[in-house]
Amino acid sequence: MGWLQKILIPLLGLVLAFWFYSARENFKPEMLKGKRVIVTGASTGIGEQIAYHLARMGSHILITARTEAKLQKVVERCLELGAASARYVSGTMEDMAFAQHVVREAHTSLGGLDMLILNHVGASYFGFFDGDVEHVRKLLEINFLSYVAMTTSALPMLKESEGSIVVVSSMAGKVGFPFTVPYSATKFALDGFFSSLRQEFSIQSINVSITLCILGFIDTESAVRAAAEVLRERPAPRDECALEILKGAALRRRELYYRYSSTRLPLLLRDCAADLLDYLVRSRYR
Ligand code: NDP
Repeated sequence: MGWLQKILIPLLGLVLAFWFYSARENFKPEMLKGKRVIVTGASTGIGEQIAYHLARMGSHILITARTEAKLQKVVERCLELGAASARYVSGTMEDMAFAQHVVREAHTSLGGLDMLILNHVGASYFGFFDGDVEHVRKLLEINFLSYVAMTTSALPMLKESEGSIVVVSSMAGKVGFPFTVPYSATKFALDGFFSSLRQEFSIQSINVSITLCILGFIDTESAVRAAAEVLRERPAPRDECALEILKGAALRRRELYYRYSSTRLPLLLRDCAADLLDYLVRSRYR
C-alpha cells in the first residue's frame, strides 16, 4: 500500500498533468491562414499587435479605430508582414451606425467573416469616481453597446462560417477595481452579455465560439501612461498578449487569462475569500 501512495499516485498525477497540458496547447498559426478577421481598436496597443500577428499568419484583415493616419500605417505594415489582404475603416464607436457599417464592410470586401475581435476602449480617467453620469453613459456606448451592435450585425456571417467572437476584457471586469469605476462597469457588462449569449448559443446549437479575454496590466502606451506610476507590478508585453488572445480564439476557449499568475490565480479567491481578494487588488497600488 505504501509504494502505491509514494510512487503510483504521484506518477499518475504527472501523467494526467502532462496529458492535460499537451492536449490543450495545440495551436498552429495555420489555423488563422486565410481567415477573414475584423480587429477593432487596431490603430495602436494590443489591437495593433493582434493585426501584425494575423498578418504573419496570412489572414484577411479589416481594422478600425478613429485615427486614419495610424490605421494607414498599420495596414501598410500588415501587407509587408504577409497578410492575405489588409484594409481599414475609420470612425468612432460612439456611433452605433458606424459599428454596424464596419461589419457591412467585411461583407462587401471580404465576402464574409470568420472572427470578430472586439478590442477598442474609450478614454476614461484614473481616480476616484467623480459622479459624472454622462461619462459613464458615453463609456458604456463605446466599450459595451458598440460591441453588442457589431456582434448583432456580424452574427449571420459568423453563423455561416461557424466563426468566433473575441471580447477583450480585463481583471477590472471580474473584480471591483478602485480608480476605474466607469471602466470597470463597462467590462463587467461585457461578461454579463457575452456569457449569457454563450449559454443561448449552446441551447440553440449555434456553433459560434465566444472567448472572453481577462487581461492584467499590459505595456501599451495608454495603460503605462495612466497606471505605471501607481501600480506596483510590471506590465506584460503587448505582442505576447496579442498572440495569447489569438491562440485562445483559434482554440475556441471560453475564457483566456493573461498573465495567468496575475489574473486567474487571484480570481480563485473570489468565492471563498472575497475580502482578501479586494485587499490584494488594493495592495497593487502605491
Ligand atoms: P489603447 O488605448 O492602446 O488602444 C485603444 C484603441 O481603441 C485604439 O486603437 C484607439 O484608436 C481605439 N479607440 C479609442 N476610442 C475609440 C472610439 N471612440 N471609437 C473607436 N475606436 C476607439 O488600448 P490597449 O491596447 O491598452 O487596450 C486594448 C484592450 O485591452 C481594451 O479593451 C482594454 O480595456 C483591454 N485591457 C488593456 C489593459 C492594459 O493594461 N493595456 C489591461 C486590461 C485590459 P483611436 O484613438 O485612433 O480611435
